Amino acid sequence: MQSFLSHISQLFLKSSCQSCQRPTSEFFCPFCQAQLQTGIRSPLIDPPSPLHPFPLFAWGTYDTNLRQIIQQLKYKNQPAIGTWLGTEMAKSWINAKLHQQFPRLLVIPIPMHKRKQQQRGYNQAEIIAHSFARQIGYHHQPNALIRIRETQPQFELGLDDRTQNLESAFSLALNFRTNRPILLVDDIFTTGATLRTAIKLLENQNISIWGSAVTTRASPNTTFEASPLKRTTKNAPILKN
Ligand SMILES: [Zn+2]
Repeated sequence: MQSFLSHISQLFLKSSCQSCQRPTSEFFCPFCQAQLQTGIRSPLIDPPSPLHPFPLFAWGTYDTNLRQIIQQLKYKNQPAIGTWLGTEMAKSWINAKLHQQFPRLLVIPIPMHKRKQQQRGYNQAEIIAHSFARQIGYHHQPNALIRIRETQPQFELGLDDRTQNLESAFSLALNFRTNRPILLVDDIFTTGATLRTAIKLLENQNISIWGSAVTTRASPNTTFEASPLKRTTKNAPILKN
């Protein structure tokens, strides 16, 4: 009887893998789960360096199978992938006993500009930060940082232009107060220019910072593609000026 019932419940629970569409009752099928696991870094924390003046918890390597699901999260309207990533990052954080070592962090996501967020429908960093904080039991404050200036995607710029591009891109919410050290959360770490800009702003306000947590760390040689939503179609006329 029990096996009959579990068989029936299996039938109802079956849906498809968020990555490869194979039928599975999990968010990702066992095959994709295994592939994604190979992208998890060890050690997870990079000590402070000129690129990140505070510790950087970087859960995975961008140039692995994680790359595809991050692109799905950002460009294919799959916010649930962000929830999954935040939860998996939190599991690794807890396994490393970091929640015991640092029990009072305040999680703040790197914000998107309002217009860009309206286009996408969500800020992926906020979704990751929310599920990460919830799983661990950290406080989460999504609106502490505000992106006040629209900036060019960082990957379209040379190294020198990146910091300039971000200058005065963020501001702090007027009523923001905390006595907890901040953990900034973002989806990808490339050159660190975005995080350094946010850190500088917090430091100028004498706010204490633990460091940052990102889903993936890209290598400096990683090439990024523009949003597929922005790409022109194959047959679109080529505009010349
Ligand atoms: Zn799969």
